[in-house]
Amino acid sequence: MKILKGTFGLGSFRENQLEAILATLTGLDVFILKPTGGGKSLCFQVPALCVGGKTRGVTIVISPLTSLMMDQVKWLLSKGVDAVLITHDQIVPEQEPSIWQRLNGPDTKPKLIFVTPEKMAQNADLRQALRYLYKERMLARFAVDEAHLLGTWGRDFRDAYQCLKNLRRDFPDIPILALTGSATNADQEHIRRTLCLKPNHVFLAESFNRPNLHYTVLPRPGRNFTKVIASYIKGSHPKQAGIVYCIGRSTCERVAAELRGYGLSASHFHGAMLDSEKQYTMESWLSGESDIVVATIAFGMGIHKPNVRFIIHHGLPSSLTNYYQETGRAGRDGLPADCILYYSWKDCAFLLSRIQDKPNLREEDRQRQLHEVEQVIHFVLNETDCRRVQILQHFDEQFNRHACNGTCDNCAASYTVVEKDMSHEAMSLVKFLLDAMALYSKVTRNHLIHAFRGGKLKQNEVLLGSLSGYRLGKKTSKALVERVYDELIGMGVILQKTEQTNGPYPAQYSYVRLSVVCHHDNI
Ligand code: ADP
Ligand code: MG
Ligand code: ZN
Repeated sequence: MKILKGTFGLGSFRENQLEAILATLTGLDVFILKPTGGGKSLCFQVPALCVGGKTRGVTIVISPLTSLMMDQVKWLLSKGVDAVLITHDQIVPEQEPSIWQRLNGPDTKPKLIFVTPEKMAQNADLRQALRYLYKERMLARFAVDEAHLLGTWGRDFRDAYQCLKNLRRDFPDIPILALTGSATNADQEHIRRTLCLKPNHVFLAESFNRPNLHYTVLPRPGRNFTKVIASYIKGSHPKQAGIVYCIGRSTCERVAAELRGYGLSASHFHGAMLDSEKQYTMESWLSGESDIVVATIAFGMGIHKPNVRFIIHHGLPSSLTNYYQETGRAGRDGLPADCILYYSWKDCAFLLSRIQDKPNLREEDRQRQLHEVEQVIHFVLNETDCRRVQILQHFDEQFNRHACNGTCDNCAASYTVVEKDMSHEAMSLVKFLLDAMALYSKVTRNHLIHAFRGGKLKQNEVLLGSLSGYRLGKKTSKALVERVYDELIGMGVILQKTEQTNGPYPAQYSYVRLSVVCHHDNI
């Protein structure tokens, strides 16, 4: 409490903060799941300054984004906390003797060292210093921030995160603190195993629901798309801060320019910009000088802007986890904020084929990424289930639709909702698809649904007529059969795979392939 008040000027702990701090001070591993903006950093900042627990020495914080660590280190330094940032090209603050001399000798040690996972994986000086600190019993804990990046199953984004599996091997008794703002049950399991968290680790989680965010999903207007967005912003959020997420750098630049053309204060942000440009864009947005950033996903991780009033997805997010993270940047101050997602089949196809065409991707990862996009497609097409129920279900959290209170488009819609048991149709469809796969190696969703409902068969699919599933669904509406089919895709029972055809466009084929993730021992 003394540190919370004296150093950080805060009055009380938030949910789970004290629990996490006490556990890590006792030397236990901790896994903390706390929604973005919930205050995860405090869970390693406070114990790093505590004396009297079972741990001694330096807290090593591993975090993916240099700019964010830089902000945090500057902020800590301003509070008089001895913190150091070590990146590939700089050390902040620069000091004498050098940080390496300081770490490897008798000098007092910093309380916190911030490093990127790449640095951990590659830098010999750092590894040497860590070994020395370990030997001298001056290594208090490792805090792995944004740990969901470990759970992305070898996604090309951050391979260095995979090297963190060596922490436990190299420093067996040093407590690990894993922090993330979003992880499904499978991701959690993956994080636990990759970091080798001890069986007695403390797991702290809270609801992921963000009650002040309002969710809306809309089909993308065919024409004047940017104009539609511009008039929405002018009408509902004039002079307020927001982010527009786009797929691709050129789209970012174009949309930002168009929004400026409509008299809005917008700038673009993407990975190909110079650091100085990025910095400028980020700072003028943070200070409120500019209102809107049009960005690729590269923008926003961990940003501290409390008053973001809208997030617009101009393009489809590539997973529900990303969608949750991206929309999560709105309304950190607890006041209402709007999240609007525009989708189009073009985007869906684009995202799928981008994954399909990615070179050097393990087949397993490719399938996983495709599946993640399919889940997003499933989400945008679902016009009945509460958006919160759908999003939270992705994180394996049960949410009661009534608690949404009409704050998502599906709950706000005036039509009445009925639940219909479609188990029979679902089983018939799966059986029909399995039978069809035996006849034709390639079957598409539309053809199968067409035949299931007894549609006229073309020459090259005439054999479907001989199967027991043919015409079985003739009494069910097309929309409903499609819904069941997509539900099966969303459940991972039916797999949609994009494949090259002889023609100019790749096609999507359906397969029945239910896979489960399980421990090797349990196979
Ligand atoms: P996260 O990493 O979980 O997204 P941060 O650690 O960046 O969140 O914290 C978000 C904001 O919440 C920060 O501005 C921080 O100062 C504030 N905060 C954290 N803990 C508390 C607390 N106990 N009381 C008041 N504000 C807090
Ligand atoms: Mg954080
Ligand atoms: Zn709802």
